[in-house]
Amino acid sequence: MRALITGGAGFIGSHLAEALLAAGHSVAAIDNLATGSRGNIEHLMGRPGFRFVEGDVLNEAQMDRLVAESEVVFHLAAAVGVRWIIDHPLLSIRTNIRATEVVLEQASRHRARVVLASTSEVYGKNDHGPLSENSDSVIGPTQITRWLYANTKATDEFLAYAYHRERALPVVIVRFFNTVGPRQTGQYGMVVPRFVRQALRNEPITIYGDGGQSRCFTYVGDAVRSVIRLAETPAAVGEVFNIGCAQEITILDLARKIIALTGSASPLRFIPYDQAYERGFEDMRRRVPDVSKLRATIGYAPHTPLEENLKRIIQHMQATDQQLLLRPLVKTEHAHITYTTEPAARPSSQASTTPSPARAEEAALSTPSPPPSSLSPVAADD
Ligand code: UDP
Repeated sequence: MRALITGGAGFIGSHLAEALLAAGHSVAAIDNLATGSRGNIEHLMGRPGFRFVEGDVLNEAQMDRLVAESEVVFHLAAAVGVRWIIDHPLLSIRTNIRATEVVLEQASRHRARVVLASTSEVYGKNDHGPLSENSDSVIGPTQITRWLYANTKATDEFLAYAYHRERALPVVIVRFFNTVGPRQTGQYGMVVPRFVRQALRNEPITIYGDGGQSRCFTYVGDAVRSVIRLAETPAAVGEVFNIGCAQEITILDLARKIIALTGSASPLRFIPYDQAYERGFEDMRRRVPDVSKLRATIGYAPHTPLEENLKRIIQHMQATDQQLLLRPLVKTEHAHITYTTEPAARPSSQASTTPSPARAEEAALSTPSPPPSSLSPVAADD
C-alpha cells in the first residue's frame, strides 16, 4: 500500500513507518516535529519507499498533495501526553479537532482509507472491568483540563463516523491503551519512560497519588502490527477497536518492577495529583481493555509480556540517555513542586519516601518552555 502517516516522527508513528516499510509498503511521513523528533526516524531516512515531510497537517495545500498520492492515511498527529495537554489546552483542542477534519475531508475527496488513532482516554473514569468498545464514556467536568483529551478524541471519532456514514469514507478507529516501547519520551508525562529514566539515574521514582491505580501497558510493536492488519481487513471498516494488552499492573508495582530490572537504588516518592498536574486533577483508577473484537477480526491481539517490553525500553534508554540529558523537559507551570512524605493510604510497607529538595529533573521540569507559535499538530503518543 502507499501509506501516509501523520505524526510520522512521533513514537508510535515512527514504529508504524518501520513496520510498514518492513512489510514492503511505501511510506510518506508528515510531522511538524513539535513533539515528534527527527531522531525517531533517522534510521529510515534514505530507505527506498520512505519519505519524510516536515510540515503541518493544517497546511491544507500540502496535505492535499500527500493524501492524493496515498491509499491509506494513518492519522496519528494529535496533542500528546497528559502533561502537555494540561500545559497547552487551546493548542490541544485545535490540533486534535481541526487536523482530523482536514484529514477526513481530504481522504474523502481523494477516496483514501483512513485509520484514525484514538485513545483509551475516551472511556474516562469508567473503571468497570475490561472495557469493550461499547462501554460508556464517563468524563469528568470541563473545568478539569485533563478531560479535554478524552473529549476531543471522542469528537474525532464522531467526525470519523459521520464521514463514514454520510460520505462513505472507509475509516477504522483504533483506541490505544498505554502504548509503550523504545523511543517513547517521558517529556510529556508518560509514566514508563519517566520511571525508567529515574531508575537508571538512581533518582526518586515519582508516583502520583497512592500508586494503587492500574494500567495495561502495550508493546508498541504489537500495537502497530494490529493497526496494519486492521488497515488491510475489509471487515474492520466503519468499526472501532481497542488496541491493548490485557496484563494489568498497579503503578506502584510498575515502579518496583523497574527498580528490580535496573538494579536501581531509587527511592519511591509519592506526589499528590494536584501537585503533579493541576488542582482537582482526576485519574483513572483502572483501565483494562477487552480485546475480543480485535482478536475476532484479525486473529491477533497484543500480548508481549510487560517484563520483556520493559527490558527493551531499559536497554534503549541506556544507549540514548546522553541525548535525553541534553533535552529540556516540557513544563510551563508548577514551578515549585512540593513533595509529601507519605501517600494518604500507603499501599505497602516496602514503599519508602524521600523528602528532599527538588532534584535536577524537577528543576528541568520547571523550566518554562513556550508553546509552539503556530497551530500545529504533534505526534500521537498515547
Ligand atoms: N504517573 C505517575 N508518575 C509519573 C507519571 C505518571 O505515577 O511520573 C501515573 C499517572 O498519574 C497515571 C499512570 O501513571 O496514573 C499512567 O500515566 P500516563 O501519563 O503514562 O498515562 P495515562 O494512563 O494517565 O494516560
